[in-house]
Amino acid sequence: IWSYLTEKFKETLSKVSYDTWIQSANLVSLSENTITIEVPSTLHKEYWKNNLSTRVVEYLYEFVGREIAPLFVTSEEQAAEEAVGNNMQTFESPAVSSTLNSKYTFDTFVIGKGNQMAHAAALVVSEEPGTIYNPLFFYGGVGLGKTHLMHAIGHQYLQINPNANIKYVTSENFANDFINSIQNRTQEKFRQKYRNVDLLLVDDIQFFADKEGTQEEFFHTFNALYDQRKQIVLTSDRLPNEIPKLQERLVSRFAWGLSVDITPPDLETRIAILRKKANAEGLEIPNDALSYIAGQIDSNIRELEGALVRVQAYSAIQRSDITTSLAADALKSMVKNDSKQNVSIASIQQKVSKYYDITLADLKGKKRVRQIVLPRQIAMYLSRELTSTSLPKIGKEFGGKDHTTVIHAHEKIKKLVDSNEEIKAEVDEIRKSL
Ligand code: ADP
Ligand code: MG
Repeated sequence: IWSYLTEKFKETLSKVSYDTWIQSANLVSLSENTITIEVPSTLHKEYWKNNLSTRVVEYLYEFVGREIAPLFVTSEEQAAEEAVGNNMQTFESPAVSSTLNSKYTFDTFVIGKGNQMAHAAALVVSEEPGTIYNPLFFYGGVGLGKTHLMHAIGHQYLQINPNANIKYVTSENFANDFINSIQNRTQEKFRQKYRNVDLLLVDDIQFFADKEGTQEEFFHTFNALYDQRKQIVLTSDRLPNEIPKLQERLVSRFAWGLSVDITPPDLETRIAILRKKANAEGLEIPNDALSYIAGQIDSNIRELEGALVRVQAYSAIQRSDITTSLAADALKSMVKNDSKQNVSIASIQQKVSKYYDITLADLKGKKRVRQIVLPRQIAMYLSRELTSTSLPKIGKEFGGKDHTTVIHAHEKIKKLVDSNEEIKAEVDEIRKSL
């Protein structure tokens, strides 16, 4: 953890700052929710508290997925503490109490087709909590922005009601907290903690499955808050009635409000997200490189961010600007090439032209009539799906087309295959013949 933290600072601070503030610091101890850091002087301590502590929380949150508050002690204090032989506490209370990730706001959230409903509902709920959509339930696959939206609600809510008491937890935190309260006989405290809030955000409730006692307790928490018209927001990777062993009475309560799904972003949204992140990082990336990256990673926004970081790091190592071909090199090993068989583009082109009864020249040509465009796009789609050839190369095989043409073809056919039975059957048949 400590090396992760120092690495993060190394990446973001100037060398002088890093050498001055970070290198001189040491990890003293780490508990479930505090980290104690030893620094050489009170000057260092002030600097860490004022300038670095929010980032410590943020980085640790990224690393362990929960909030850990930093405590800073000078070497002198630390020595005194050790002499007394009691190695904890008596330090000042943590400077940061918000459990929200400061990056997850509405401002940094890019709206697209897959998430616009969820985004709109989130906005309503943060401005008129407890009235219309209670509970608000987001569901959808990993890395699609559920947690981000949830935190955004929290930030927005706090902006409007700065003194509000809001609580963000994962369902696992809730469960652990509950179990600890039983062991330590602090159930009353537990109840106060969860029932005296204005806004309760519980993330990933699919992990309530199989936890009978926790579900029972959550049922009561839910009722208490609901009766006081306090807003509840929940997320899960699937609908409540699809969560195994989730009590029926919880399922039915969750259905009282609004459930919205978040689906994977389309190409335009992915490009917009990358552009936003690149701008935020002050990165110069040409549009075609952005659309190339967005074309490579198509289901998970976290991976999309990972791809951007990778490209950025690669360009720093190579000391060259980010271009499409640099991005292609950087992402080579990341792009999934499992299930790619030994099919050549030439054989795909041959089968497709035969199937639709058009010439190979037309298939690779520029004619824009539908009878030719559709087979051409299907052939590009299959080339992308079944070979590990890079997008620019596929474009080249089709008479020197741009990689964006290939991306668009792939997107379009992918959608068609999902929505049009006839096309799906045709594509499947060609695929089988290969
Ligand atoms: P989930 O909780 O659904 O698994 P997260 O909310 O953790 O997903 O999102 C994964 C990453 O993708 C986060 O870094 C988040 O900021 C980013 N992200 C997700 N959706 C968007 C969006 N619409 N605009 C900008 N960033 C997004
Ligand atoms: Mg999440």
